[in-house]
Amino acid sequence: MMTYDPENIFAKILRGDIPNDTVYESDHSLAFNDIAPQAPMHVLVIPKGAYVDHADFSANASPEELTDFHRTVATVIQRSGADAAGFRTISNAGEHGMQEVPHFHLHILAGKVMGPLLAS
Ligand code: 5GP
Repeated sequence: MMTYDPENIFAKILRGDIPNDTVYESDHSLAFNDIAPQAPMHVLVIPKGAYVDHADFSANASPEELTDFHRTVATVIQRSGADAAGFRTISNAGEHGMQEVPHFHLHILAGKVMGPLLAS
């Protein structure tokens, strides 16, 4: 597993060191638009806690953080209307997952047909 780097870009967003385009914020989670959207809707949902990837978050987050995160995902999807035509959620981890930012994040993509799960 990658180690948590407190200087990663999402940690800086959470600290308010760099701006973001917030979609929704809860006690333990933040949802904001991806800076390089891959679909008409491309939102990232992150926990406010320092977790490297999905497995780290699922294993070590508190019940409150876990519930809050998943409720935030649901809120973002339902408020955007993405559940009508469908959406895709992706979480990349580590080298093989080609994770760029070592702070757990879930991509929510919607607004077009996404195509096959993997390009290759
Ligand atoms: P990963 O490859 O780690 O799953 O995805 C990282 C995502 O973070 C990419 O989709 C990338 O466009 C996005 N990203 C990187 N830097 C920033 C930033 O400063 N602000 C926002 N909003 N998104 C970012």
